Amino acid sequence: MLIDSHAHLDSPRYADDREAMLHRAAESGVAAVLAIGIGESPAEMHQALDICREFNGKPGMPRLYASAGIYPHNAAEADEAAQAKLDSLLSQPEVIACGEIGLDYYHEGASHPVQREGLICQLKIAAARKRPILIDCRPKDGETDAWDDLFEVLDEHWASTGLGGVMHCFGGGWEQARRSLDQGFLISFAGNLTYPKAQPLRDVAARVPIDGVLVETDAPWLAPIALRGKRNEPAFVTQTAQTLAELHHVSPEAIADATTKNFTRLFDLRV
Ligand SMILES: [Zn+2]
Repeated sequence: MLIDSHAHLDSPRYADDREAMLHRAAESGVAAVLAIGIGESPAEMHQALDICREFNGKPGMPRLYASAGIYPHNAAEADEAAQAKLDSLLSQPEVIACGEIGLDYYHEGASHPVQREGLICQLKIAAARKRPILIDCRPKDGETDAWDDLFEVLDEHWASTGLGGVMHCFGGGWEQARRSLDQGFLISFAGNLTYPKAQPLRDVAARVPIDGVLVETDAPWLAPIALRGKRNEPAFVTQTAQTLAELHHVSPEAIADATTKNFTRLFDLRV
């Protein structure tokens, strides 16, 4: 039993086969999926919750949970109405996390100060609702600028909550992994862990203790190597789990067991 800790189930790329795609996940042993509620803009933040409500309880489906948040490059849209919408979504029992939020200095878009402000404002809303956060952190190539700024913000505005969160689609080095673990974050690995050029990332993944890891697809993006370039979906999380198991010299079942325990512990769930 595996949990895909990060999938954009509301993507229009699933418009034609969303139910079949979720069935395939269940058949592959995926017991639960955290559907990410960022949409293309804050106006679509509720879509992940809508999908949970549409499919939960139907037979042959993974259990679905949702998040809600304003993506770093939409930070300029985090006005009062968007903040109120986020707060209201986080009050729903299915919406277990705030995210993905963070700092993305890799892609062009919102300025760094605007991203930082958007992050801090959402940390306050998540703290008040006692929801762990899902962090998207992407520095410029070869730099650690976004990580340095992120830890500065988390030290000041998040560490004291004790709520922790997930470093989604982790791409940092050991130093960033260690600091994340110290702050009670789980480190989530995506399909890029399986890519030929990702040896530095695999070296980090091998060092992260098994009680600190999660696996995710980030579907519809980042399909693992066997399917690279194709549309990704939660069923394929098994391939990332397999790679992580090899790195830790344990069985895929042991990784499934550990990542499920880590997920349910962080979000205080009984799956
Ligand atoms: Zn994502």
